[in-house]
Amino acid sequence: MSRNTIIALSVIILAVVVFTVVGRTLTRDSTHSAARANFDSHDASAAEGATAAGADVPADTRDVFISAKSARPAPALVKNVPWINSDPLTLEGLRGRVVLVDFWTFSCYNCRNTLPTLKRFDASYRERGLTIIGVQTPEFDSEKQVETVRGQVRTLGIKYPVVLDNDYVTWRAYGVQAWPTVVILDKQGRIRYTHIGEGAYDMQEKIIKTLLAEGEKQSAGVSQDAYKGEKIVKTEAEWRALLNAEQYRVMRDKGTERAFTGAYNDHHENGVYHCAACDLVLFNSKAKFESGTGWPSFFQPVAAANVTEEVDSAYGMKRTEVLCSRCGAHLGHVFDDGPPPTGLRYCMNSVALKFNRQS
Ligand SMILES: [Zn+2]
Repeated sequence: MSRNTIIALSVIILAVVVFTVVGRTLTRDSTHSAARANFDSHDASAAEGATAAGADVPADTRDVFISAKSARPAPALVKNVPWINSDPLTLEGLRGRVVLVDFWTFSCYNCRNTLPTLKRFDASYRERGLTIIGVQTPEFDSEKQVETVRGQVRTLGIKYPVVLDNDYVTWRAYGVQAWPTVVILDKQGRIRYTHIGEGAYDMQEKIIKTLLAEGEKQSAGVSQDAYKGEKIVKTEAEWRALLNAEQYRVMRDKGTERAFTGAYNDHHENGVYHCAACDLVLFNSKAKFESGTGWPSFFQPVAAANVTEEVDSAYGMKRTEVLCSRCGAHLGHVFDDGPPPTGLRYCMNSVALKFNRQS
């Protein structure tokens, strides 16, 4: 063989090798799995930690639209960690909204490929009741600094809330094993769809639309005032300046007004009751009933989204506290000894409410 032939052959062989390697990379599946990360990661322990305790997402619930009847409640989001683009969110606070949870990390190639679609979903459906939450789950230590993540979120043009899940709390709770994983929750906070990897965007959009429409018919006219906006956050000093002493004691210090003393205990006009702190509409007089307890009582709020319920174990009693979803004010408690149609008794403090007459 001549020298030129050898060179030509070498070039061809090199081209074949390069083509094979590149081709394999491109056809590699669309996820970035923690198992694989063990091989190329500088920080295999973190990646191992990410999978060790995880109950894997059951295979039969992947890529399937799960009916409301067989859907299970979604695990809570990680608490007491930094949020970007938002105050801390809870799933209870997001009741009434469709929630798309995206498990990602900013340096994952496959995750980045999904971002244009997620950003489009956010722009198109946020006003209509969709909240996207990016759960930034790091693979490397360099992905754990909040300032680094904040910079990446800004550079990538992400406007939706992002939470740092550095200890894999949410990742494990959801049984996630690979980046990216998308989980879509309905308005009641139940998991209705899971997809692992890139793609399936049309399916995801269809499910978002379906879930946004769910429940609209049944609640028409009742939940037209369903609260979908941002929370109001103020310092205690600001609340003190805004509320009178009794309102502050009840709404911020979770006090209770004396029975039979409130303005709305024996009050029978037609209208709506608003939060005395932030004016969010809470109860309609049509849902008010005589409980004989000495406090204004309702069998349902105007919309489930407008009140937030939390277990309250103060004074050795297990009660469910009712809070305003917009400003977090304590309103009262809810008990399950109410009348039909709900069987619930929302026992409210008059001082936490403000009445607006309607004809
Ligand atoms: Zn309020």
